[in-house]
Amino acid sequence: MGIYKCNVGCIWVLVMAVIMTLIPRYWEARFVSEAASHQPFNIPPTIEVTEGKIEENTTLVATLADFNVPVTIANEIALLIKPVFDVRDIRSGNLFRLEKEDGALRTFEYKIDDERVLKVERVEKLEDESESYAARVEKLELEERESTVVAEIQSSLWNALADYPKHDWLTNQLANSIFAWDVDFSSDIQPGDTVRMVVDEYYHEGKFVKYGDIHAAELVNDGKSYRAFLFRDSYYDEKGNSIKRPFLASPLEFNARISSGFTRRRMHPILNSVRSHMAVDYAAASGTPVVAVADGTVTSSGWNGGYGRLVQIRHASGLTTGYAHLSRIADGVRPGRTIKQGERVGAVGATGLATGPHLHYMMTRNGTPINPLSIKSEPPVPLPAKTKPEFLKYIAGRQEKLNSSTLTATAR
Ligand SMILES: [Zn+2]
Repeated sequence: MGIYKCNVGCIWVLVMAVIMTLIPRYWEARFVSEAASHQPFNIPPTIEVTEGKIEENTTLVATLADFNVPVTIANEIALLIKPVFDVRDIRSGNLFRLEKEDGALRTFEYKIDDERVLKVERVEKLEDESESYAARVEKLELEERESTVVAEIQSSLWNALADYPKHDWLTNQLANSIFAWDVDFSSDIQPGDTVRMVVDEYYHEGKFVKYGDIHAAELVNDGKSYRAFLFRDSYYDEKGNSIKRPFLASPLEFNARISSGFTRRRMHPILNSVRSHMAVDYAAASGTPVVAVADGTVTSSGWNGGYGRLVQIRHASGLTTGYAHLSRIADGVRPGRTIKQGERVGAVGATGLATGPHLHYMMTRNGTPINPLSIKSEPPVPLPAKTKPEFLKYIAGRQEKLNSSTLTATAR
């Protein structure tokens, strides 16, 4: 390395010497013009760079003042920022960078989030030596890579993906969107189940920023394989059947377990007598979001005796669902209002006759109570026959990626 550098240096000196000998007139002209513009020659400005994190309970102006930016300039900058970014949204702990030239502020950068930077730059130096600045929000340039995520589930999907960055997002997509219709992640997951995904990842300067589309996903649950492929903004299985169903497999986020199933006879824990339990109970922390399992119309919402806070929804095909013991009912969930599948109806609680926080989830068909878990097997809707060849061609590559991704090769 040392020898190499010396060689480059020697050649450089030689080349410079040749150039300077051959064209002295260039240098004469250059000295004259430098003198004419009153610029100090050959004295580089002192650049001072400060990087840090925004402290707690502080403002932009105070932060700038802390680093010896005159308050008048700090105030001017705060005003300039206003149209492009709300300075009240400045978060403690976020990174900033100050660059000063000969003691005067040249640039100020604040990292808003993983994708955006607020930039304040000096744009001109006026006759009276005062500074003028311009502010803008810049989107970071992101590099897209298609990658494979593979994990084996031991306890929960969340734990299985815990080593991946932003795994909350991945878990949520799989459990509450892609496979929400097929698998109830609160009750169906078995140790040894596996997940595979082909997903876009976005990087900035080599650092992971976020995920993009999940192009393909596979869940092997209790030996049964479920696959989903993204095609024109919707997910389909390998045969081109839509994976979207009229009913979600569960009205809860995935971190819940069934504490009591549907039965016509059981001992009631509070009333201490044999009663039927024509519902499914999910044990979940108070406050866990509860969502509508299907599109429908709210028929009742509010206090209802032993059910505590209860929301009831009417769906197509003579079906209704009921969500009881809620700690709160979501805003606007009132009788007569239409509600979409996946929309919040409220939060888990222990209101009414309940020994602890849980969701008492009921379903009826034509007025008769039925087991909500029996509704899983509604027929899927296929792609139109003429679209299918295109679909099969489109997913082939991703299918191959799922097939070839193995736990040992890609697990982190
Ligand atoms: Zn119950």
